[in-house]
Amino acid sequence: MERERKGLSLVLIPSPLQGHIAPLLELANILYCSGFSIIISHTLFNSPNPSAYPHFTFVPFSDELSQSEASTSDPLHLTNLINLRCAHPLSRCLSHLLSDPSLDPIACLISDAALHFTRSVCDSLHLPRLVLRTGGASSFLVFSLFPLLRSRGYLPIEESRGEEAVAELPPLKVKDLPKIETKDPEAFYEFVCRMVDELKLSSGVIWNTFEELESYALEKLTLEFSIPIYPIGPFHKHLTSGSLASTALMTPDESCIPWLDTQEPNSVVYVSFGSIAAITQTQLVEMAWGLANSKQAFLWVLRPGLVPGSQWLEPLPDGFIESLGGRGHVVKWAPQGQVLSHPAVGAFWTHNGWNSTLESVCEGVPMICMPCFADQKVNAKYVSDVWKVGIQLPNELQRGEVEQAIQRIMVEDEGKAIRERALQLKEKADLCLQQGGSSRRSLDRLITHIFSSRRQTHPSEKRE
Ligand code: UDP
Repeated sequence: MERERKGLSLVLIPSPLQGHIAPLLELANILYCSGFSIIISHTLFNSPNPSAYPHFTFVPFSDELSQSEASTSDPLHLTNLINLRCAHPLSRCLSHLLSDPSLDPIACLISDAALHFTRSVCDSLHLPRLVLRTGGASSFLVFSLFPLLRSRGYLPIEESRGEEAVAELPPLKVKDLPKIETKDPEAFYEFVCRMVDELKLSSGVIWNTFEELESYALEKLTLEFSIPIYPIGPFHKHLTSGSLASTALMTPDESCIPWLDTQEPNSVVYVSFGSIAAITQTQLVEMAWGLANSKQAFLWVLRPGLVPGSQWLEPLPDGFIESLGGRGHVVKWAPQGQVLSHPAVGAFWTHNGWNSTLESVCEGVPMICMPCFADQKVNAKYVSDVWKVGIQLPNELQRGEVEQAIQRIMVEDEGKAIRERALQLKEKADLCLQQGGSSRRSLDRLITHIFSSRRQTHPSEKRE
């Protein structure tokens, strides 16, 4: 239900990656429904589709990226380039917006945490800056301790120490710490430290999580950071499906829904690794035969480029699709929200991107975890060892282990216990959004915060 208009605008700035744009647009919708006018200021690369949001104002700023740089194949490099080059273009864009009399006065800017360059831009314009962290709080707690982890010798990660416990962060082991495959590991460390430092200088942090899920990390972060934090997730569950526009950069293949309709309840393994993760040809072949040998039905999102350079199905073993006898359905991109809430889906084999993890939690779907990089390893550890709503696959993927993991979760008693816990967690996710629930209360606090700290128009600024 929409509240009365508040006569104030908010400028939101997404990072141009699917897993970041979607939650930011969902947050924008929540704040729109709370009465604010919404301006989305975005890079030209991967710009959101304005026609899906006729009630928002979309204003691009030049991202200064060449054609070859405008790619998600190396998300860290892309983000670093934007942080390096976009301060001036964004500053110009915001100056125009601040003096535009046709807009409601701008109360503050809400920036994706990864775009840390927005801090200096906002300071120079005396614009309060809130930060949206699209990942989970538990993984952010790990990021915030990177300097400590380095000083204690856990970072950079040495593979031979993978099984060692990280005493400061139970139940994590060294192998669960965030890592990305990059030519320059130092660049990842520096990016994380800068993101954390600039986040601490914001006026508050909004999290797509809920207190009951990540209370430990949220409490620790509240103690460590002297700024307010607002866990108001799960974002995608705030609004009724009728008021949700698509946040997808890719077109979902809807054919999987009628296919799911033909399957038994809890009988299908949904397999998807999100929008960026890549796997090797060998891993793909092991996945394929593991799925086939498990004899369970499956819906597999085989994204073009999942195996780098692939167009679509060509990395699959010859005869694989034919061997399934209709037991498998393969698409390039799925309507994941609808898939996870479909009664036929019994498990989600995921890379544990935060959005996928949270979406699975919200639907009570047990997970088979295969984290690939960055925060995904921490998310996976929480799924398997803290919330106990999934199991992890070993690092060296082999078809026999895939088959065994699917059996454990779909057929065995262990899987039944996991499903029960997943349904209990789903109930908590439902409750936090009800009247008086933790995320509702956080949202009310956030709205009060935006009002009380809103930007005051400087006397030298003319708006008419
Ligand atoms: N997604 C989707 N269809 C797909 C695969 C993924 O709609 O076939 C969505 C998914 O629902 C999630 C997002 O893409 O909201 C992926 O975000 P996540 O944080 O899980 O992973 P990332 O893509 O950032 O690695």
